[in-house]
Amino acid sequence: MDLTVLTWPAVAALSKDMPVLIPIAALEQHGHHLPLFTDSLLTAEIVRRVAERFAGRVLFAPLMWLGNSHHHLDFAGTLSAEPRCYLDMLESMAENFLHHGFRRIVFFNGHGGNDVPGKQAVFELRQKYRQRADLLLLFATYWNAGESKAGAEAGCTQQQMGHACEWETSMILRLDPGLAGDYANAPDVDAGRPFTPATRGWVTQDRSERGHIGSPRLATAEKGEKLFQCFARDAGALLERVLGWNGKDWSG
Ligand SMILES: [Zn+2]
Repeated sequence: MDLTVLTWPAVAALSKDMPVLIPIAALEQHGHHLPLFTDSLLTAEIVRRVAERFAGRVLFAPLMWLGNSHHHLDFAGTLSAEPRCYLDMLESMAENFLHHGFRRIVFFNGHGGNDVPGKQAVFELRQKYRQRADLLLLFATYWNAGESKAGAEAGCTQQQMGHACEWETSMILRLDPGLAGDYANAPDVDAGRPFTPATRGWVTQDRSERGHIGSPRLATAEKGEKLFQCFARDAGALLERVLGWNGKDWSG
């Protein structure tokens, strides 16, 4: 169910147990070979595939393309909401739906920089509405949303998400080969081992001169299709769990 084409009486008449999915992504540099809108295009494609399956059972908000991308701001064209502003924006968006009576909110994310503010948003909202026992507030990033071993299933060398990498370049090739530039000659940029398992603060130029992280040259449209299938399957499984929640249990 697409929020953007409904009338307000139609939204008012919906069951307030219907999950609301809010896709969030970014507009930021993706190296020399992928478009700035990569994260938004890929997230929208996964949501498109999932929305077909959940028509009438889940309310899909339009994709919020402005993300928290300050670590990429040294690269031209990147647009970013300052992290605290972004946090407030996510909370406001979820609160709008709570105000209209909805109880199950899922942020569905397609950009790494949104991860921390997104998790903080659902945590803060839960504190704000701490007297409520009927809320399900979730944040999920598509490549971590389920059980799929997407890299292995797709036959990728990379086993984790990078940036404008084998995974993202493959999915862009699947969407439209005309959107990918000279990925075949992009040098490999290793993800490294930045004091893991500690979390290190970084800006992109600490890690990559051109902006990508990973091995774009390994990308194929076939891998991209498999990755899309994995991520859509994981997102669908998550939504089934949200639909199956009994409205009060901790587990689901
Ligand atoms: Zn990306």
